[in-house]
Amino acid sequence: MIGAVDIGGTKIAAGVVDEEGRVLAKAECPTDVPRGFADAMRRVAEMLAQCVGQTEIKGIGIGCTGPVDPVSGALGNVNLLPGWEGGNPVETLSAKFGVTAAMENDADAAGLGEAVWGAGKGKIRLVYVTISTGIGASVILEGKVYRGAGGCHPEIGHHVVEPSGPPCTCGARGCWESLASGPAMVEWVKANASGSYGGQELSAQLICARAAEGAEWARRAVEREGYYLGVGLANVVSVFTPDAIVLGGGVMKSADLFLDRIHQVIRENCRLVPFERVEISLASLGPDVALIGAAQVWHHRFAA
Ligand SMILES: [Zn+2]
Repeated sequence: MIGAVDIGGTKIAAGVVDEEGRVLAKAECPTDVPRGFADAMRRVAEMLAQCVGQTEIKGIGIGCTGPVDPVSGALGNVNLLPGWEGGNPVETLSAKFGVTAAMENDADAAGLGEAVWGAGKGKIRLVYVTISTGIGASVILEGKVYRGAGGCHPEIGHHVVEPSGPPCTCGARGCWESLASGPAMVEWVKANASGSYGGQELSAQLICARAAEGAEWARRAVEREGYYLGVGLANVVSVFTPDAIVLGGGVMKSADLFLDRIHQVIRENCRLVPFERVEISLASLGPDVALIGAAQVWHHRFAA
């Protein structure tokens, strides 16, 4: 059994995951960022202790919205966690529970989960991409997370797709995330199809639902989304030509609306690499992927 923790900007989850990647117990609470890092760690420890109960855990794996330092276990200057920089969940939880702990960026954690227990199983060269509030990606080669200089997590979601595109939260313009995340869909509809959606609270999910029903404004948004997902994925195919790309995240719940367009853009843009050998598949671990992936973070670091 491995203790698993997922630290996000909105909520924190903790749980216990067995050797087959099954979640045996879980709990969650709001992140409540202003209460600070130490307070959050107290709540994580309580939730984890409840989930663990009488069972014994071998270690603790953590996924955290980035940037984080996977080597030292310290949080970097995380956009969504202001004031928490320098806090070290690995040291804190390892000391509290008396076991080894390891942490990765949450996209790497989810990617590791899919690579070992999910849709990426058996793939030697794998890229996992999650498309939701942002776009995160993880490159996993022969079972190991690819790391950049100093152990950093490369930010594929922030590769520039349109230099004249919309401003991104990271300070650049036209990042893939600023064009193809869920909020990017919403922004585009507000700017280009306002008045046609009857003043409802817009979300990527609502846009996809209306598109599936045939609403013209939503179909245009979906066509644009499929195009920009395709452009970013075509770049991933050209740069890595992996055996598989696994797509996860909330926006991909409506993958049927996007996949044809994605494949078309890849066919048009990747003629110099054997793009047809890159399997594009959907994540298979479902809503618990963050906890399952966090557990795999521990295995990735300490097992074998
Ligand atoms: Zn960006």
